[in-house]
Amino acid sequence: MQTIEQTMKETAQKTWNKRPLVISGPCSAETEEQVLQTAQRLAATGKVDMLRAGIWKPRTKPGMFEGVGVKGLPWLLQAKKITGLPTTVEVATGKQVEDALNFDVDVLWIGARTTVNPFSVQEVADALRGVDVPVLIKNPINPDLELWSGAMERVARAGIKQIGLIHRGFSSYGNTEFRNAPMWHLAIEMKRRNPDIMIINDPSHICGSREKLMDVAQKAIDLDFDGLMIESHIDPDKAWSDAKQQVTPERLAEMIGAIKWRHESAEEIEFITALEKLREQINHLDDELIQLLGQRMKIADKIGEYKKNNNVTILQTSRWNQILERAFSKGEAIGLSREFITKYFDAVHMESINHQNKIMNS
Ligand code: PEP
Ligand code: MN
Repeated sequence: MQTIEQTMKETAQKTWNKRPLVISGPCSAETEEQVLQTAQRLAATGKVDMLRAGIWKPRTKPGMFEGVGVKGLPWLLQAKKITGLPTTVEVATGKQVEDALNFDVDVLWIGARTTVNPFSVQEVADALRGVDVPVLIKNPINPDLELWSGAMERVARAGIKQIGLIHRGFSSYGNTEFRNAPMWHLAIEMKRRNPDIMIINDPSHICGSREKLMDVAQKAIDLDFDGLMIESHIDPDKAWSDAKQQVTPERLAEMIGAIKWRHESAEEIEFITALEKLREQINHLDDELIQLLGQRMKIADKIGEYKKNNNVTILQTSRWNQILERAFSKGEAIGLSREFITKYFDAVHMESINHQNKIMNS
């Protein structure tokens, strides 16, 4: 006769290998009631494979909710017993690894704020030595693939055989569209380097709000990710952490149901992936161009002030001809037509003059 624990371990193993793998649950375990209800409502949808909950929450700023701690672990174990769903929690220290394993957590994950720190990753890895448990590793907060790979290596060297990755986007200063910019090309590159390792996407922490969850999830599936981790809560607006990005279990099921789980041919996936890499490069360059144009206008403003204080006219034809001639010769050398250079510089020039006009008339 198998014990209940053995049966659950087998279920967890099967779940780990299931594709697509869908993980959901609250950002944080808050109360026993909330954990059990979320788990039951998620299980009732039949669309979720594994239950997540943060027990220890690494927060960017002090004073925010830092998790219920060890007392939340029996709630998760209970949720697993009731629903049959395997569980996963975030661990950041050796002690947390020990506590989670004591309460039969099936899969551990290393969070983005931990992956950035080799000391912490090593501490977690040391606690994993001799243990047979699957580990998911989130990308580090900053866009650094070496750090992400380094964390993988540390965990692998501790003897962990089942390692997966979670792409949760990267922090970038001034980024407003997403809470964490997806920078898909980096996840794609990680997949290319580790073709046999599972990689799932976390639209919740990329988006930071509910609106774009569906788009990001669909994109991840189009890019051949192995699954999704999406936060859900019985009463999202009242969640103790990440309230804006969580959805109800029922909404989650609707989203999972609406995703097109395409079975692209290998050629199609390769095409989308190659296209995505190139588009991401274009986005980066466009962002830089806009930044640079902004800086250029700030200098034009300074020139405007100088001209105002020294009574010089805004348009000085000889200077403008000089700028154009420089651009023609530099542009021609790299294959930019005179016609394009003229149009582009005319537009830039107009904007500069408008900026200076504002200054002269202020
Ligand atoms: C989380 O999953 O709740 C979390 C803290 O995520 P991340 O490490 O990606 O910020
Ligand atoms: Mn969260």
